[in-house]
This record gives sequence, C-alpha cells and structure tokens, in this order.
Amino acid sequence: MTRVALIAHDERKPDIIDMAQAYEETLADYDLLGTGTTGQRITEETDLTVERKASGPLGGDVQIASEVADDAVDGIVFLRDPLTAQPHEPDISALLRVCDVHDVPLATTETGARYLLDGLDAE
Ligand code: PGA
Repeated sequence: MTRVALIAHDERKPDIIDMAQAYEETLADYDLLGTGTTGQRITEETDLTVERKASGPLGGDVQIASEVADDAVDGIVFLRDPLTAQPHEPDISALLRVCDVHDVPLATTETGARYLLDGLDAE
C-alpha cells in the first residue's frame, strides 16, 4: 500500500489541513503517517487515519527519516515555515537528505504537494 507522510510546521498546519480535506478521497486509500501534532490535527479535522510519530521537535522527523531509509515511504508532503527558525532544523535536514538519497518525492509547497499526490494517484 502506498505510504505517505504528512508534516507541517505550526504556521502551515492550516494549509496541510486544507490539503488533506481537498485530497481526502485520495488519501483515504493510502497508509498515512505524520508527525505528532500534524497527525493529530488531520485526524481531528478529517475522517482520515494517520499513524502518529513523535512531534517534530521531539524527533518525529527523524522517525519518518528512518522509514525512508528502510524504503517504507513512497512520498512526503512537508509544508515548512521558511520564516521561522525551527529548534529541530538538523532533524529536518536529515529528513530532506535521506529523501534525496532514496529518491523519495518530497513536496514543500502546496503546488508541489498537489503534483505529488496526483502523481502517486496516477501510478
Ligand atoms: P508537529 O511537527 O506536527 O508535531 O508539529 C512538525 C514539525 O515541526 O516537524
């Protein structure tokens, strides 16, 4: 089953919820995981089920990176806040890097996220 990770920094959480609602039918067919708070918000505001890892600042990005290293993840939507310094920046860099290493598509913009989800849906 297609496994997709959903992550959003605090300022971007409303955007990822809008996206999850717009793509709810597609996402319902996927095995979803996410960082703690993002996962919680999506499960509260949609009918989707999201496997929740730790919150990002507590290591959730690293947990998702570990699954990428195991080739268990098919795509990631990671809506980042480019204007706010994040305490867990090294973890975020590690996640981006391991996606590069394993050729896992990762979208950091809403348009990129639409392309990614449409692309996975077409496979
Ligand atoms: P959160 O983590 O969903 O637990 O807020 C996201 C992040 O900051 O990486």
